[in-house]
Amino acid sequence: MEITVVEGDITAQDVDAIVNAANRAMRGGGGVDGAIHRAGGPAVLEDCRRRFPAGLATGDAGWTTAGLLPARWVIHVVGPNYNRGERDRTLLTSCYHRALAVADDLGAHTVAFPLISAGSYGWPKTDAIDAALEVFRAAQTQVAEARMVAFDSSTYAAIQDALRRG
Ligand code: ADP
Repeated sequence: MEITVVEGDITAQDVDAIVNAANRAMRGGGGVDGAIHRAGGPAVLEDCRRRFPAGLATGDAGWTTAGLLPARWVIHVVGPNYNRGERDRTLLTSCYHRALAVADDLGAHTVAFPLISAGSYGWPKTDAIDAALEVFRAAQTQVAEARMVAFDSSTYAAIQDALRRG
């Protein structure tokens, strides 16, 4: 699997699937979740209600339609909320593992990822990047490209540094 990085908005990515850093309720929220629901339109929330009547557990992943987005699917994950004391790192790496497993089930070959838990959930950015790269580098998957989407230039630079460090 190739690991790439771009700076931009995940809702604009022309890939098979984009990953959403959702919350357990799975009914939309702030940050990247809000952006995905706004750009995808009401079909995304409708599908969330249908497929996740009881929400989704921290560390788990599931998929919905991508509605109006260029991608075909949204793969929703629930990252651990570091700010509220969820600091078990395996919950964070699990999000990336499970997202890739769902992508394989769907037959998605290109998948764009935000930096899960590194926004309002407060996971330290450098470690959030390292956790993603650890999973990507060891992944056994049919996914050909994992595209890390940095929302700002400092995150973009930090991801590039981590990629170079190897
Ligand atoms: P969490 O609650 O899991 O921390 P956030 O949405 O608050 O999720 O933030 C996760 C990461 O996604 C942060 O690095 C944030 O800057 C980034 N982000 C926010 N909006 C977008 C977007 N439209 N595209 C890509 N990344 C985004």
